[in-house]
Amino acid sequence: MNQTPDIAIIGAGIAGLTAALRAREAGLSPAVFEKSRGPGGRLASKRTQDGTSVDMGAQFFTVRNPRFRALLADHDGDAAFGLWEATLWHENKEGEASSFHQALRYVGIPRMTAITRSLADGLPIQTETRITELTRTPGGWWLETDQGRHGPFSRVIITTPPEQARDLLPATVTASLELQNFRMLPCWGLALRFGEPLDLGFDGMQLAHESLGWVARNSSKPERGNPEWWVLHANSTWSETHRSADSSEVAAAMTTAFRQRFDVTQTVTDHLAHRWLYARPAAGPTPGFLSVADNSIGLCGDWLAGGRVEGAFESADALAAAWLGQP
Ligand SMILES: Cc1cc2nc3c(=O)[nH]c(=O)nc-3n(C[C@H](O)[C@H](O)[C@H](O)COP(=O)(O)OP(=O)(O)OC[C@H]3O[C@@H](n4cnc5c(N)ncnc54)[C@H](O)[C@@H]3O)c2cc1C
Repeated sequence: MNQTPDIAIIGAGIAGLTAALRAREAGLSPAVFEKSRGPGGRLASKRTQDGTSVDMGAQFFTVRNPRFRALLADHDGDAAFGLWEATLWHENKEGEASSFHQALRYVGIPRMTAITRSLADGLPIQTETRITELTRTPGGWWLETDQGRHGPFSRVIITTPPEQARDLLPATVTASLELQNFRMLPCWGLALRFGEPLDLGFDGMQLAHESLGWVARNSSKPERGNPEWWVLHANSTWSETHRSADSSEVAAAMTTAFRQRFDVTQTVTDHLAHRWLYARPAAGPTPGFLSVADNSIGLCGDWLAGGRVEGAFESADALAAAWLGQP
């Protein structure tokens, strides 16, 4: 195998890791750059003071595509993910609740990031490395950071949300890829720990509420421990309106909304708030992936394939197949 990195991948979420694994399968040596402390992206779990962790981003994922199943099986075995056998409800605009659509729902075990940790195992990932700009020279693309530059690379795959990709690329490239057509919606997340269990009759519910879009009992997922943690996600309209609000105000408003909606009186003993600026794609085109004419820059991620974890996989898998051939 060629040991000189010849393909750079920006972002170590599910799309970036898929791209890196596909590159390695094709005999290339990928170099992955991630701005955060670890891989995962929006498959995110936060450690709590009581020693457990809560899933702040993606709540569950589907595995409909056999290629996704094979990737997970190859790299996780059966240890890092499993079924979430939950009672899930969906509320319509009239406030009527019905059972969520039937699908097998999977989660990372013991936390969402278990999946991306497994996929990342053995991959050369430079964490805490934020790429600030891509510059082109006759030798290839350079990845600029505040600490220096990496490269040159003949090929670069960008897996960041579109707003962040736009910041990296020369204006001529963003224009040719029509990146202005893609946009992500924000989402405020709040995890609440209660002193005693809540008996609401469900484990997760999609809501048609003025502020809340989703609530779930994190503790109902496999191996999450005993503490009673609930995760609330505000809907995108409310999150957009409160985009710049203070996190403590947001936490108070979302807690009150949850208490009122479900008549919850139990005491909150801990909480964590997180604002996702780029949570889910707004309605728009879903080309699968994007690539410049000479195949030196490719973009993939959930926003190019209908959102969601499986979409992120499919987008990266499709770009890799187009560039590198089927494994
Ligand atoms: C609140 C919330 C709830 C969700 N619920 C679900 C759900 O229930 N089911 C489901 O299937 N999906 C859900 N999703 C969507 C799912 O999380 C995403 O579809 C998926 O994780 C996207 O993966 P990705 O690799 O495309 O992008 P990301 O996971 O966003 O990965 C991009 C990576 O790029 C890194 N990065 C960005 N800029 C730079 C830079 N300049 N330099 C270096 N690194 C950079 C980021 O840190 C990140 O790690 C949810 C998302 C959110 C936010």
